[in-house]
Amino acid sequence: YAQCANRVKMIKSLNAYIRVTEETSQVHLQESIQRYKKGTPRPLEGIPVAIKDNFCTKNITTTCASKMLENFVPTYNATVVERLLDSGAILMGKTNLDEFGMGSGTTESIFGPTKNVWGSHLISKANENENSDNEVERKQPNDFYIAGGSSGGSAVAVATGTCSVALGSDTGGSVRNPASYCGVVGFKPSYGSISRYGLIPLVNSMDVPGILARTVDDCRSVFDVIKGCDPKDSTTLPRPLSKSKLKSTNKFDKLCVGIPKEFHCPGMSSEVIEVWNDVADLLENSGFRVVQVSLPHTSYSIACYSVLNPCEVASNMARYDGLRYGYRATGKDLNSTESLYAATRSQSLNQIVRGRILAGNYFLLKENYDKYFVQALKLRRLIYEDYIKIWGTGVDILLTPVTLSDAPLFSEFTQKDSRAQSADQDYCTQPANMAGIPALSLPVRISKRNLPLSLQLMAPHFDDETLLDVAHLLE
Ligand code: GLN
Repeated sequence: YAQCANRVKMIKSLNAYIRVTEETSQVHLQESIQRYKKGTPRPLEGIPVAIKDNFCTKNITTTCASKMLENFVPTYNATVVERLLDSGAILMGKTNLDEFGMGSGTTESIFGPTKNVWGSHLISKANENENSDNEVERKQPNDFYIAGGSSGGSAVAVATGTCSVALGSDTGGSVRNPASYCGVVGFKPSYGSISRYGLIPLVNSMDVPGILARTVDDCRSVFDVIKGCDPKDSTTLPRPLSKSKLKSTNKFDKLCVGIPKEFHCPGMSSEVIEVWNDVADLLENSGFRVVQVSLPHTSYSIACYSVLNPCEVASNMARYDGLRYGYRATGKDLNSTESLYAATRSQSLNQIVRGRILAGNYFLLKENYDKYFVQALKLRRLIYEDYIKIWGTGVDILLTPVTLSDAPLFSEFTQKDSRAQSADQDYCTQPANMAGIPALSLPVRISKRNLPLSLQLMAPHFDDETLLDVAHLLE
């Protein structure tokens, strides 16, 4: 704990934490010491954890990195937080994110962007030394590599050793994308395997709490503690997950790995393609059956998401009316409920959030409903069925890239508008949320720019144990 707490101070400039909860950590630490003394440690006794700031934490501000909730102090813990703390974890703090989880870079937070720890020494060197041999860095002396998002704070918190594990949330890739850029393991469990109670919603039908850790085993230890049915979330599964196929056969040469050809997409870097091919070869040489497969609706996922996400966002954000909780606009001219709503929202939500509320309400208009929302739902069904068909042919695991490249520079990333960012960044990650299946980002290699390169594994719904086992083999 002491080492982690020290590192939290050392990495302040990376802006991974929105709030460091030192007093709470001390209380948890003392309790852990007592438990060890009595010889009754709980499963995660004394393990430092960090939590994305869109999970409710009792008596600790939960901001969603938005002015809307800047001073919001929940009166209860999210189920996953409660389970972590009941198992003996020490809360180190709340981590940075894109406002309400909308983004792929942790660049859209009212607290400022989170910086990737990878490459940060090179850039500070380039700052000192104008003769740096790295052209990009020489041109942009104040630039930095992004952490990815929207759970970028959690990824940097783990990558820098300020905690052993961190919670993130994943709606279209928000755990796996930053895990990939920061070189840590990022696990999005099956939808329904883990409670969303107390996770401030983005897209209820796709949101899943996820785990970021340095090893697959650490991910699993935390998953074992937080997974399972929760009476407070009716979408959680009331029975245990499927048993690992790897354990039941005890031989991985019986497992079949699919390589979906549609995940080759324009803009993918040659390094990503190379590492993807190399790992497929490695699996084949180790005895797995490796086959090329087709998931024909993959490329429609981004368009489908860009309708479904705003529709659910529009419904979810209706609660922020300036009346019940959160920010409230004041002023003499606010003489109607409508004007209070409008002023409150325009003053406290960023352009991305407001844009999605508008788009969602547009798609849901009576005259547009069938044209957009219903069409997108049908498309989602087709994406889902692609996966069902593939598992039906005997494929157990899919291997794909996570992101199209290694971490971009802040300057490269912010040149694009937010829709273009998502289209690029989420291409390989969103389909798993559409289908509700478990997916994991695993760091595998260092790129030419000295940044992490990762690959994604996906498994059938509720086959999380097989997924973790295969990921562990590859580690
Ligand atoms: N980038 C996607 C979005 O902006 C996904 C975010 C997420 O998974 N929370 O909606």
